[in-house]
Formats: sequence, structure tokens, C-alpha cells
Amino acid sequence: MAAQILDGNALSQKLRAGFKLRAETLAEQGSRPGLAVILVGQDAASQVYVRNKVNACAQAGFYSEKHVYGADVVAAVVLAKIAQLNADPAIHGILVQLPLPGQFDVDAVLEAIAAEKDVDGFRAENVGALMQGKPCFIPCTPYGAMKFFEDAGICLKGKEAVVVGRSNIVGKPMAMLLMHAGATVTVCHSQTRDLKAHCRRADVLVAAVGKAKMITGDMIKPGAVVIDVGINRLQDGTDAGKLCGDVDFASARDVAGFITPVPGGVGPMTITMLLANTLESAERAASGKS
Ligand code: NAP
Repeated sequence: MAAQILDGNALSQKLRAGFKLRAETLAEQGSRPGLAVILVGQDAASQVYVRNKVNACAQAGFYSEKHVYGADVVAAVVLAKIAQLNADPAIHGILVQLPLPGQFDVDAVLEAIAAEKDVDGFRAENVGALMQGKPCFIPCTPYGAMKFFEDAGICLKGKEAVVVGRSNIVGKPMAMLLMHAGATVTVCHSQTRDLKAHCRRADVLVAAVGKAKMITGDMIKPGAVVIDVGINRLQDGTDAGKLCGDVDFASARDVAGFITPVPGGVGPMTITMLLANTLESAERAASGKS
């Protein structure tokens, strides 16, 4: 039987409707959730992501502003803008779209964001808090993945979870969240021997690699929950230009119990959880807790 689709657009719509109501409640108290997005350079994918984030803010009734710089901007200019946004009470979340051009020390830029406005959850302090199980902000992509389990009533306690990819923004925080939820977690990466054997043990398999269709149906345990984080643009063949995930959807859906599609799975949920974090930050600020 074909896997049940975990629909990121439908879940996003449901969650965002709730966020809109909470934003309206805040507005009645004289505050409006505000997100500032900084974009450096001309990366086409980044431009799309930023546009989608700004549009999502507008639809949810949030305030947003976008600060765009050329690829050759000096880091000091961006750092000065971050300092200004840190001090701006209309801004509750600051997001620097990654990747940044080579002249930037990415860690220095992320650390410049005030902890209480770090809605991406990338600062070392937030990463440490997540590790301790007391997150201030959960990184949006793994946070979105966790919402699928919650919404579909999938219990993670005692489950074998395998995360393929160990990046700071997806793989590591994903593993941490799954572990905190009671799963037994294995993290695979480019040095892992026999990836297929690890994947085939997984009750929950998360692919966050960046390699089109690398996880095929024969690597998946029958009935597993498959979360496909990858966003890849196909280069060749009749599907050239189309987006696909790290999972070969066609073969995986015949084996998995649940699966997220690409597009329409984790992608929209990442933006949804950015809204969630920004709203949370605004609510904390309004209640004097930030
Ligand atoms: P990344 O920083 O490039 O990390 C990729 C990870 O995959 C690394 O840990 C790497 O291992 C591992 N890897 C590479 N080749 C492998 C192989 N053959 N077998 C096993 N592991 C392998 O990428 P990322 O930022 O985590 O993003 C991963 C994917 O998710 C990308 O397609 C990205 O576009 C997508 N993404 C989507 C969203 C969304 O909203 N849906 C958000 C963020 C990212 P090493 O550490 O050993 O190099």
C-alpha cells in the first residue's frame, strides 16, 4: 500500500491560521510580531526563500522588513544593521539568509544577533540550550519535521531514528529533538559505512543530505516514517529544472508508511516554524519575559 503523505502545505495552513489569531490578539495589545530578513548576494534559491518568508509574514498579519545587500558588501555594514535591528522594539526576530559570501565569518554574523531575536536558533547559546532540552528557539527545519510527527500522532518513544546528514542547521538539531522525544538516534554522514544497513533499521528516517534521490525504496524499512528535508534541482532529463528531495519518492512511497513530498513537505513547514518562533518571541516581549 502506498505511504500516507505528510502534507506540509496543509499542516502549514492549519498552524498559520492559529498564528494569525495569536498575532491579532497581540495587535489588540499594541504589538505586532516583526521579522527582519537580511539577504546578501544574488543566490537565486535564497531570493526565493526570502520572498516566501516575507510573503508568509504578510499573510499571517506579521510585520516584516527585508534588507538586501550586494555580494561585495563589507561585513561591518551587515553587522551594523544587525546591531540596529537588535535595538528595534518592532523587530522580534532577525534572520540572516544563508549561505553568506566568502568574506563573511558566518559564526560572527550569527552571534551578533541578540539571543532573544535569534528565531533561526543558530547561535551557540541557543544550540546549547537545545542540547540541554531547554530550547529558547528550535531551528525551524527540524522543528517543522517534529510537527509532522505530532500532527499525525506518531509516537517517537523507543523508535529507531536515523538522520542522514549532520549539519548544524538540520542534521544535528534534528537528532537532538528526536532523542529528546524518546527515539534512539543514529546520525549518518559522508563517512558512514553501509548507509543502507543503517537506513533499513529506521522506524523514522530523516534525509538531510542535498543529493537528489539518493535514498531509494530498497533502503527503507517497510512502514517507516520518511522525512525528506532535501531540496535539489534536477539537472538532466525530462524533469530538468524541477525540485526533488534526497529521497527517491517513486520507489520510497511503495515501502514507507508515511512520507513527506518535495516540494510541499518540509519546505513550507520550515517557514511556518519561522513564523512560530517570531510569534513566540513577540509574545515573550509583550509579556516582558524576553
Ligand atoms: P549540508 O550542510 O551540506 O550537510 C549535508 C550533510 O550530508 C553532511 O553532514 C554530509 O556529511 C552528509 N552527506 C553528504 N554526502 C553523503 C552521503 N553520500 N552519505 C551520507 N551523508 C552524506 O546540508 P544541509 O544544510 O544540512 O541541507 C541538506 C539538504 O536539506 C539540502 O538539500 C538543503 O537544500 C536542504 N534543506 C532544506 C530545508 C527546507 O526547508 N526543506 C532547509 C535546510 C536545508 P559530512 O558532514 O560528512 O560532510
